[in-house]
Amino acid sequence: MTDKITVGGVAVDTRHWIGGERVASPDTFTDISPIDGSTIGEISRATPAEAAAAIAAAKAAFPAWAATSRAERARLLHAIADGVEKRLEELAIVETTDNGALLRSHRRGVMPRVAHNFRFFADWLLKLDHEDFETRGHGNHVSWDPAGPSVLITPWNAPLLLATWKVAPALAAGNTVVLKPAEWSPLTASLLADIAAEAGLPAGVLNLVQGYGSEIGDALTSHPDVRRISFTGSVPTARRIAASAAANLTPLSLELGGKSPLLVFADADLDLAVDLAVEQYDNAGQVCLAATRFLVEESVAEEFTRRFVEKAGQLTQGDPRDEATDVGPNIHPRQLEKIDGFVQRAVAAGARALVGGHRKDGQYYAPTLLTDVAQDSEIVQEEVFGPVLTLQTFATEDEAVRLANDTRFGLAATVATGDPERARRVTARLVAGTVWVNCFFVRDLRAPFGGSRLSGVGREGGSWSFDFYCDLKNTVTAPNGWSNHG
Ligand code: NAD
Repeated sequence: MTDKITVGGVAVDTRHWIGGERVASPDTFTDISPIDGSTIGEISRATPAEAAAAIAAAKAAFPAWAATSRAERARLLHAIADGVEKRLEELAIVETTDNGALLRSHRRGVMPRVAHNFRFFADWLLKLDHEDFETRGHGNHVSWDPAGPSVLITPWNAPLLLATWKVAPALAAGNTVVLKPAEWSPLTASLLADIAAEAGLPAGVLNLVQGYGSEIGDALTSHPDVRRISFTGSVPTARRIAASAAANLTPLSLELGGKSPLLVFADADLDLAVDLAVEQYDNAGQVCLAATRFLVEESVAEEFTRRFVEKAGQLTQGDPRDEATDVGPNIHPRQLEKIDGFVQRAVAAGARALVGGHRKDGQYYAPTLLTDVAQDSEIVQEEVFGPVLTLQTFATEDEAVRLANDTRFGLAATVATGDPERARRVTARLVAGTVWVNCFFVRDLRAPFGGSRLSGVGREGGSWSFDFYCDLKNTVTAPNGWSNHG
């Protein structure tokens, strides 16, 4: 195994980052590129021993980091953001090679947002406050105490964006971190370790272990020294993590899957609705928030479908490094099998493909729209996590809301309507952590983010992130400062 590989001209260390040192495991796993299935390199494959070493390093570094002033923590987070901005182009090409998402999105949208994750939580930390209050002359003071070593486990669909959305608030809160990125896209996390070290983050404050969740997950999530676990990924993994964390009642934040609806009412601007609908093929459909179920009012369904099919037909699918590409590959041959399995079972059950419905060469799946699908069918109820959407119709507002809410998920919902009163009525009844009206994917880090039902537990974002990563403490002081017998 070589310690460093070159990816798109960028040197990437393939080892873990533990206590300020690069550490290798005896074994490796192979990282492949979804663009062409080629091998990118061999990556250190952690055993429970490296997981334990990373937690020990985070534990050792915790007291000093927790005692570091807010101003200094904020300064270091801004220094990391500077490093991300300086290496933006490198991060973009490495991420695209590793997970197949569009290079143009990484350059213009994703990597600037990665830097923003650090700047936002640095700035929020400096204004984090609660007004003191009195109880019969006694002063109450609420403080956000750092909670301890935090294990952060992330998926492959937006690797660095989702990792830093956790790393930044955890570090800002004064916690030390063990980051475990997904094994299908491990590379940019390693670059982040380099950037953090260059920024001057003390050794052990941020640690990185690479490898399979099935092999080191338990070692990370059942450890008594871990005081927070934040996980983004699938529901089955979340269940395993929750069971493992139960031993120490470690507080959990779970950001999970979705089967979100797009409701299109007859009074909507249909061009806008179609634009919102086609956007759901972004990242080859590998977006947790994607509105994968179109619910369209009967009277406009035919026209909506006609315009959607036409617009979807104009999408360019291909190499994600090409500026002209709209839809890239899917992450892994196993994911492709999974996607195709969903589509073929749906078709066997009577669904009709209005668009796509089949694999293409390599790791590409044709953008697909299925109709004639039953509400209780697998394709309507289960998350596919690929470019596969369904179309159903409704007759009344009540029916639209009923269908929208009728899955086990509750991550997001999008409503297209020209009637503000209807928007108010419908959004009030939708079960979802985020609802968009006549827009999609507008995200602000001040907002709470998370899912209802099987889409998650807890909320992160703004002060909700600090509420999660900190131990909130209320200190009550007697009127004269030392006695409560005043
Ligand atoms: P996954 O659950 O298979 O894996 C996620 C991470 O968990 C990986 O790092 C994996 O190695 C790790 N893991 C696996 N088994 C583990 C175990 N036993 N203990 C600890 N960690 C373990 O999910 P995925 O396929 O990588 O990601 C896709 C899923 O993530 C989809 O369901 C998607 O909707 C969801 N997602 C949710 C959000 C959100 O914010 N709600 C964002 C992106 C993705």
